[in-house]
Amino acid sequence: MELRLLGGASVVGSLSAYLEEKGVRLLFDCGLTPSKPPKYPMKPPAVDLAFLSHAHIDHSGMIPWLCATYGMDVVATQPSITIGTILLEDSVKVSASEGFPAPYDKGDVRSLKKHFQRATFGDSLDIAGLEVVLHSAGHIPGAAMFEVKSDRNLLFTGDINTLDTYLVNGAKPVDCDVLVIESTYSGRDHPPRMETEKAFLDKTKEVVDRGGLAIVPAFAVGRTQEMMLTLADAGHEIWLDGMGWSVNRHYAKMPKYLRDPEMLRNAMNKIHTIKHPGDRKSVVGKADVIITTSGMLDGGPVLNYISEKKDDRNSAILLTGYQVENTNGRMLLDTGHIKLNGNITPVQCELGFYDFSAHADHLELMRFIKECSPEDVVLCHGENRDVLANDLKEEGFNIYTPTEGERIDL
Ligand SMILES: [Zn+2]
Ligand SMILES: [Zn+2]
Repeated sequence: MELRLLGGASVVGSLSAYLEEKGVRLLFDCGLTPSKPPKYPMKPPAVDLAFLSHAHIDHSGMIPWLCATYGMDVVATQPSITIGTILLEDSVKVSASEGFPAPYDKGDVRSLKKHFQRATFGDSLDIAGLEVVLHSAGHIPGAAMFEVKSDRNLLFTGDINTLDTYLVNGAKPVDCDVLVIESTYSGRDHPPRMETEKAFLDKTKEVVDRGGLAIVPAFAVGRTQEMMLTLADAGHEIWLDGMGWSVNRHYAKMPKYLRDPEMLRNAMNKIHTIKHPGDRKSVVGKADVIITTSGMLDGGPVLNYISEKKDDRNSAILLTGYQVENTNGRMLLDTGHIKLNGNITPVQCELGFYDFSAHADHLELMRFIKECSPEDVVLCHGENRDVLANDLKEEGFNIYTPTEGERIDL
């Protein structure tokens, strides 16, 4: 079989993998990196069928282009279809407003309806004699791994998390010969989840007890729900602002993709929602905690709350995930300053960072890879792949760390 990573091999972003086996051509993911300007994978060829692992833009961002250009179909789970479409619509809007219009329009996103083929975990698809089976990747609801069954079995993981979170159960290993796996956290380990959670809840309580507002920036998809589930029973007055609210409503209608649908419904009932921007001012006066987008402070309602509270030393910004280079969140962590309305502004309120990552860390990746017992491991979607590659070589695996576009014969 022939494998080529068209994007997202050596970077965490714009993932796309082309596979050719026995004359059948498949594409796994076709994302873009929503930087300014955005980064795209190499142009994929027409294939027999495409697969989308999950809704995040770094995996889905170029799917509308793919369908509009080639008219091809894309296999995905219901949450990836529904939430992916919402994120893509938003991405068209945001990229146009930032002066970097997407290479497709709203109409192309709407037309995806005709191209998505819905499948679920455990489904086995026959593509011209090649069998593809879907497995849960544990990353966000509906995130899938794809197992291609042929003379040698290949597993494409997309983004994975092997730990159980409140929102979804962790990914289970799949026996394979070739493993194409993300390596975002190569060389890095998360602190134990329960410790992170306790530190976050303790800090939130401290901020609320001293009369401050805890601003919790979170991606709308996955992280917002995890933070809601983490905070729901803490006894604070919690408000939710941004796209997370509509994501919640959709997730609540797809209970089989959630670890505990009842728990999400309970959190949704306890947490208030800001439905109109005009309500923000009054909510700031009464809320203890506000969970809001964007997760890396590059836009969204979070900037309103930070403007309001940046000089209040009783309040705090509690970041809940990794802050990528060149984002406002990274600048805040590194310099204590943030860009607000085009001006670099100092932030006096407290700043905290809590690693609620939805990616397996180095040790978890090692364990997962060993349990899949492949001969060949292709590492992708990582900026620091060598550390994991070296540890795996010592264990006797054949390791590939291809560059973008490089052909691998497996
Ligand atoms: Zn993801
Ligand atoms: Zn990703």
